[in-house]
Amino acid sequence: MDANVGRLARWLRMLGYDTAFVRDIDDDELIDIGLKEGRVLLTRDTQIMLRRTVAGGAVKAMLLSNDDPKAQMRRVIAEMKLDRMDEFTRCLECNERLIARNKDEVESLVPPYVYRTQYQYQQCPVCGRIYWRGTHWEHMKQILESLTEVER
Ligand SMILES: [Zn+2]
Repeated sequence: MDANVGRLARWLRMLGYDTAFVRDIDDDELIDIGLKEGRVLLTRDTQIMLRRTVAGGAVKAMLLSNDDPKAQMRRVIAEMKLDRMDEFTRCLECNERLIARNKDEVESLVPPYVYRTQYQYQQCPVCGRIYWRGTHWEHMKQILESLTEVER
């Protein structure tokens, strides 16, 4: 997998979709994960599409032929009919579901300015990372808006 698919994985997590991102894995292992976990494989590897389990439909896979991550994301959104119902509910690093935290719980964990100005927080139970709706969040929201726009 390359950096572009990595960006795609983060965007899918922003939308709240359960997204596993694997590197340094061979095709057999990848197909195995698809089978066992019922995942759709997003890949840039044409060889995977020719495998019997994939070609026969036992494992669903989508070949991302475009190099541009935004074009990849638009295609995944359209073909898998993704929506924004669960956006910002997963850790972008771990794919874990975030837990709501109140101000007092995060006081020692966020910068003072953030603590003074933000009221809603979420925390990843795995890596401990805290998310809040600051400027970075605004930026991510704009990206998602541009990616989910219906093209006419
Ligand atoms: Zn995390």
